[in-house]
Order: sequence, then structure tokens, then C-alpha cells
Amino acid sequence: MTFTPNSTLTLIFICLLITTTLTRLWLGLRQVAHVKSNRGQVPTAFSENISLEAHQKAADYSSAKTKIALIEVVIQALLLAVLTLGGGLQWIDDTWRNLLTDQEIIRGALVICSAMLVSSLIDLPFDYYKIFVVDEKFGFNKMTPAMFFTDLVKHSLVGLVLGAPILFAALWLMQSAGQYWWFYLWVIWSIFNIVMLAVYPTYIAPLFNKFTPLADESLKTRIEALLIKCGFKSQGLFVMDGSARSSHGNAYFTGFGSSKRVVFFDTLLSRLNTDEIEAVLAHELGHFKHHHVIKRIGLIFFASFLGLALLGWLINQAWFYNGLGVTTPSNYMALILFLLVSPVFLFLVRPLMASYSRKNEFEADDYAAKHADAKHLVDALVKLYRDNASTLTPDPLHSAFYDSHPPASVRISKLAAYI
Ligand SMILES: [Zn+2]
Repeated sequence: MTFTPNSTLTLIFICLLITTTLTRLWLGLRQVAHVKSNRGQVPTAFSENISLEAHQKAADYSSAKTKIALIEVVIQALLLAVLTLGGGLQWIDDTWRNLLTDQEIIRGALVICSAMLVSSLIDLPFDYYKIFVVDEKFGFNKMTPAMFFTDLVKHSLVGLVLGAPILFAALWLMQSAGQYWWFYLWVIWSIFNIVMLAVYPTYIAPLFNKFTPLADESLKTRIEALLIKCGFKSQGLFVMDGSARSSHGNAYFTGFGSSKRVVFFDTLLSRLNTDEIEAVLAHELGHFKHHHVIKRIGLIFFASFLGLALLGWLINQAWFYNGLGVTTPSNYMALILFLLVSPVFLFLVRPLMASYSRKNEFEADDYAAKHADAKHLVDALVKLYRDNASTLTPDPLHSAFYDSHPPASVRISKLAAYI
């Protein structure tokens, strides 16, 4: 079979790829311009707590990160075009076919891993640059190149150990389970994800960071009282050595069911006082009380059900392969093609997802204001924005498109209603 592009799908794909790339570039440039134009003055609401110097550092940090992201957007779009319409995937497949004529499942796994390896290798210099040039310049980086590469090896090994069984299960089901393979795969995928949520905090996260039980007794008493007041059961309070890698501060909940843990970055504990830590935790509790985590998991399961059903249909359509630069259809080519191309089609849904996430943040802030103290949460947020050098003046459109959290000024003005 020779490559005869199916005009409709090829055309739609090219148009969407160009549109999404240009949109991302346009949003990024807007962000840089907006941050720059507000660089000269600290917004009034923050002028008491944030110095002009800190504000300008945040502006420069945010512009620097956005500018790299712009280059990354272009490189990723080019890579996708090369892999699909440029025949890159087909070339990878041909190469492995010459080496491995039968054993389709193993060949499939090798083709998929090769394509993923190419994508990660392209991302690698960007990750390195972000940490060792940008974060370093602004004083956030605590990693050494040796740590970076050790992490990389560990991440790849964990990915391989966890990903390989799922990949082989997928390829085997596609080959042997008949018409409804995608449904069985969806069931396995869902179970795998639930198991991961339960296992991750106890077995996987400790491979990368040290978790020690929270030692500060007075803080512990205060937090336990809040947990009881909010009816929340957890498997303990832990401090994570976030400072080993970066000086950004954070706090989060992790796990599922009885393996739930409260984790504080040591960087957060060192910067906030007890009142502020309590308020931040109350915000995190708000996410649990509003079932945001369960709803998010439900949404992901629903989306993967639709995605797999769609793939179950596309796999039998010759135009799906043809239109995207693949001349030898196979189960594994359908799978990798689908994984590579779907983000382009899903880009338009992104603002919806971001706005849903921001709605959850408001609900969690609301909960924190009612169960802790809104004033303390505001103080904590101001400190975190300042110390993480997050911009206080994002471009509204860029923020609407990408940001999972509402802009600082909007969050704080809503919380002010409780003070
Ligand atoms: Zn939140």
C-alpha cells in the first residue's frame, strides 16, 4: 500500500494542528506582554505585603517560563507532524518489521516505546533548561544534574515496570478479545488506576522523596483538631523533603480510602505560621469534602470509556491510518496514532476543564473560610505567591485557557467577603 492521503482527515488534522499551535503561541505572547506591562507597579491589593522587587521577580520568572513554553509548543507540533504525516511512525514500524517479522505484540510494544522515547528525548532538554537555567537563575533550583538524571532513570524504570503490563494487556486484548476488546481494556485500565491511587503514596512516592511523620507537636495537635472537626480520617501527617529539589512550597492530600495521607512540603512548613498552615489544610480538606477528587476520577474514567470506544471504531477505518500518514494498519499503530493525535483534537476542551478546576478551587476556598479563617488563608496565599514568584497579573485570556487556579487577585477578593 502506498501513502495516499485521505484528504478530509488530513485536512482537518493539519488545520487543527496549525490552529492550536497558533492559539498557544498567541496566548503565550499575550501573557508575556500583559505581565510586562504590569511589571512597573505592585497591584494595590498586594502593595502592603509584596515589594516591588518581589513583584518584578515574579514578572520576570513568569515571562521566562512562558517564553520557553512557546519554543516547546512549536517543537512539539513539528514533531507530531513529522511522526504522522511526515511518515515517522511508519518508518519506525518498517524498521522494527524488518527486525521482527512475526510476534506482532512484541513488535507493537517496541514501536510504541520507540515513538514515546522520541517524544521524551525531545522534551528532555526543555526540562533540563527549565530547572538548571531558569529556576537556577531565580534561585528556586536545589537539584544537581546527577539528581536530575537519577530521577530520570528512576521515573523511566517505574514507568516501564508499571506501564509494560498494561501495554501488553492492551495489545493482547486488541488481538484476541474480539469486537469488544476496548471495553475489557477500559475495565482493566480503571482497576489499574484505582490500585495505583492506593499504592502510590506508600510505595512509589517514597522512591523519589523522603516522607517523615510530622514532628512539631503543637502543629500536629492543631491539625488533628481540624481533621476531627471536618470528619476526615487519614493515615497520618507527613512532611516531604520538597526542598531537596526546589524551594517552591505546597501541601497536598494523597492516596485513596484508608491509605490517605496529608503531606506538607517542608518548604511550606518553614514559611507559613501555624494559623496559615491550618487555613491551607482546610482548603485541601474542602476539596475532599466537595468530592472533587472522586468527581475528577469519575470524569477521567468516563472520558477514557468514550476514548476507547472511539478507538474501537477507528481501528477498523482505513482512512484513520491513511489520513494520518500510516500505510500499514495494525492494532498497535492505531493505538499510538490515537495517543499522539488526540491532544490536538482535545485542545478545544481545555478551557472548559480549566474553568471546572477553578470552580473547584473557589469551593475549596469557601470551605476553608468557613472551617478555618479566611484572613489566614489570604495571608498564606500572599506568601505563597510571593515566595513561588507566581505572577499577580496574568493575562485574563491566558489564565482562562490554562490556569487550574483562579488568579490571586480574584481568589483573594472573594475570600475578603468572609473577613
Ligand atoms: Zn485547591
